[in-house]
Amino acid sequence: MAEHNFDVVILGGGSGGYAAALRSAQLGKSVALIERDKLGGTCLHRGCIPTKALLHSAEVADVTREASHAGVQANFVGIDMPQVNKYRDGIVDRLFKGLTGLVGSKNITVVAGEGRLVAPKTVAVNGDHYTGKNVVLATGSYSRTLPGLEIGGRVMTSEHALALEFVPGKVIVLGGGVIGVEFASIWKSFGAEVTIIEGLPTLVPNEDAAVSKAMERAFRKRGIEFKTGVRFSGVTQSATGVVVSLESGETLEAEILLVAVGRGPNTAGFGYEEQGVKVDRGYVLTNDRLETSVAGVYAAGDIVPGLQLAHRGFQQGIFIAEEIAGLNPVTIDENGIPKVTYSEPEIASVGLTEAKAAEKYGADNISTYEYNLGGNGKSQILGTTGFVKLIRQNNGPVIGIHMIGSRVGEQIGEAQLIVNWEAYPEDVASLVHAHPTQNEALGEAHLALAGKPLHAHA
Ligand SMILES: Cc1cc2nc3c(=O)[nH]c(=O)nc-3n(C[C@H](O)[C@H](O)[C@H](O)COP(=O)(O)OP(=O)(O)OC[C@H]3O[C@@H](n4cnc5c(N)ncnc54)[C@H](O)[C@@H]3O)c2cc1C
Repeated sequence: MAEHNFDVVILGGGSGGYAAALRSAQLGKSVALIERDKLGGTCLHRGCIPTKALLHSAEVADVTREASHAGVQANFVGIDMPQVNKYRDGIVDRLFKGLTGLVGSKNITVVAGEGRLVAPKTVAVNGDHYTGKNVVLATGSYSRTLPGLEIGGRVMTSEHALALEFVPGKVIVLGGGVIGVEFASIWKSFGAEVTIIEGLPTLVPNEDAAVSKAMERAFRKRGIEFKTGVRFSGVTQSATGVVVSLESGETLEAEILLVAVGRGPNTAGFGYEEQGVKVDRGYVLTNDRLETSVAGVYAAGDIVPGLQLAHRGFQQGIFIAEEIAGLNPVTIDENGIPKVTYSEPEIASVGLTEAKAAEKYGADNISTYEYNLGGNGKSQILGTTGFVKLIRQNNGPVIGIHMIGSRVGEQIGEAQLIVNWEAYPEDVASLVHAHPTQNEALGEAHLALAGKPLHAHA
């Protein structure tokens, strides 16, 4: 058994872990980064990147189908799934090589193997001990299922769905959150019949109610079926398909069932609690400086309660590295973290929903404005509908921006600056937005909320 000592020992090389490693190395620390699988974690290999590649293929399929409308002669023949997967894997491989090279070029020792906390600041890997002056836990998350719902065969999670070599004829997606609607969108564009089952009353239930409603309208128009406010009660599978039963007594048949009911923290069996790290339902509890109940042991990413997003993990990793280096970084405001759902249509949001804003400030103390993409030239060219919805505190800053429509995810950058810099609509109204872009819709919405609408009917 060998003993190794580092300034920072990081368990898990996903978004949270590798960001902490890169920033720590930049700040002159010696770093051990322990990873049992591949650097890049869920986001690069099984999450953000591969799903967005599939969504791009889906968009190309839709554009091809609709090409004649724009005067382009093209025939949509079908989806070559092995080629789609090759295209996707090529992107993941290139990014993986880039990341491996980047980490390799720094003062970071990558340790391959599964780590376990054996003392508050010591991780054992393959019999060796890695002790850090500080330790960062970043072991990520796994696809959850429901009690009694066994994964296997035709009942699969997103990991298995990404590995499919064919387009299923008919799919049931259990869960109408981000991952569920993204896969539903992909499969519909690829030609499958899709039904989503969501226990809560709406699709994308974490979004502003107006966005959820618009998403349902858009999916209905696309022929994506969904049942909301209904609970799953069981599934049986045969050699050819699945039969899903609902608590309402209804049964549905399909080729596969995708279980997309959320992700749980990957913390069991790694010695956290044994070493005094407080855990609640598997999540590692931290203070707002991301330090766990053990001094000098920090946690980042999906194991920390809150939004499970890669860019939150990056930011937390950077924060922890700076905290360890004594730079006293500004705490991360969870509410200011931008969110994008990359389905067709896309959803992009930051800040409070109208309901949350009314709860926090009182309904009389906020104002909202919805700018319809019908008035936006570029959106008309793209053939998309949707809106930009703003929420402001009366005589105060913009506290929520919610967008839906094709490609609106690309507008989240300005939206998050507005909310996080606590801009007033009047401030944004004086900034020039290029014409014709979808970005103008943000400008127009702020003009209107500042009381001087230009291309707006209301
Ligand atoms: C289908 C899907 C789509 C997604 N799309 C998006 C998106 O578009 N945008 C977005 O922001 N987020 C997206 N996410 C979420 C995003 O992937 C996660 O928020 C992010 O990966 C979390 O980073 P992390 O570092 O906490 O964990 P992970 O990325 O899960 O990394 C944890 C790493 O730790 C390793 N590990 C675990 N235990 C040990 C151990 N004991 N020893 C050694 N190594 C260990 C794992 O192998 C893994 O590499 C998506 C997720 C999924 C599943």
